[in-house]
Amino acid sequence: MLEICGKRVEAGKALQCELGPEGYPMPVTLICGAKPGKTLVVTAQIHSGEYAGTPAVIRLAEETDPGCLSGNLILFHLVNVTGFYEGLNAYIPEDHGNLNGCYPGGENSVSGRIAAFFVREVFPHADALLDLHGGGMNEKLAPCLFFPGVDEKVRAASLEIASYADIPDCIISRSVSGEVGYAGNVMGIPSLLLERGYGGLNRKEWSDAYYRDLCLILRGLGMTDGMPEPVCEKNVYDRAVYLSAGENGLWFPAVELGQRLKPGDLLGHTEDFWGRKLREYRAEAAGKVQYFRFAMNAVKGHNLVTYVLDAE
Ligand SMILES: [Zn+2]
Repeated sequence: MLEICGKRVEAGKALQCELGPEGYPMPVTLICGAKPGKTLVVTAQIHSGEYAGTPAVIRLAEETDPGCLSGNLILFHLVNVTGFYEGLNAYIPEDHGNLNGCYPGGENSVSGRIAAFFVREVFPHADALLDLHGGGMNEKLAPCLFFPGVDEKVRAASLEIASYADIPDCIISRSVSGEVGYAGNVMGIPSLLLERGYGGLNRKEWSDAYYRDLCLILRGLGMTDGMPEPVCEKNVYDRAVYLSAGENGLWFPAVELGQRLKPGDLLGHTEDFWGRKLREYRAEAAGKVQYFRFAMNAVKGHNLVTYVLDAE
């Protein structure tokens, strides 16, 4: 039996309902497999404009037969519900909180209460956690994933889960304030933050790829039967460099996804509205372009280019 937040699901059954902190219901599917096994928690759209995970989670909820499942699935189809309906890129509109930066949360804000809800009510059930993201509405992104790197055992277990997915670029995260950062680096739960799709688009190919990743991971965790399928080789990167805008202006990127960088390579430049160059942005180290802003506006402090550095 799976019991969470007062909901009970018998072995071999599923339940669709809403769960969340007081006043913030989120659509959820709970599946209790007929056989014992691991409990996997999946969250989609903690950033409300990163759509590709939600159709994949909806499909997984529809197509998983509880009678053939070993263990439990706790699926959050959409976390940032209010941001979704306001058409926002990422943050919780009530307080501009970032669910990938406000953990472990608290009771004084909506985003804090959502984070605290996951810490208190959801993560204690989890043997593993997958958090589905994508590039933002103003970004292009090459598929990648972040995994916790603080504790050696958690790091190895997370990387093993990553090995089942068909995503090539795996980046170590030492965050303790994001959802996966807190669950992995503080609570010790093997976790992945996965990234597919971008630009505020809901493309079927991205959701289909996410659905396949989820199926591959379920099989890898021994929760479903079937033979493993071939997946891409993995590249492990020690860290990502997040280049942000030094001031407001017009942004002209000079990179493409996957482009290899040498120290000093031009990443893009900004201009003012009179066409005068404000600043050139250059790579500080060798690496590869993982995602970048394509929107025209450079906003002080907001991300322009993210590139990954090779593991040492
Ligand atoms: Zn995100």
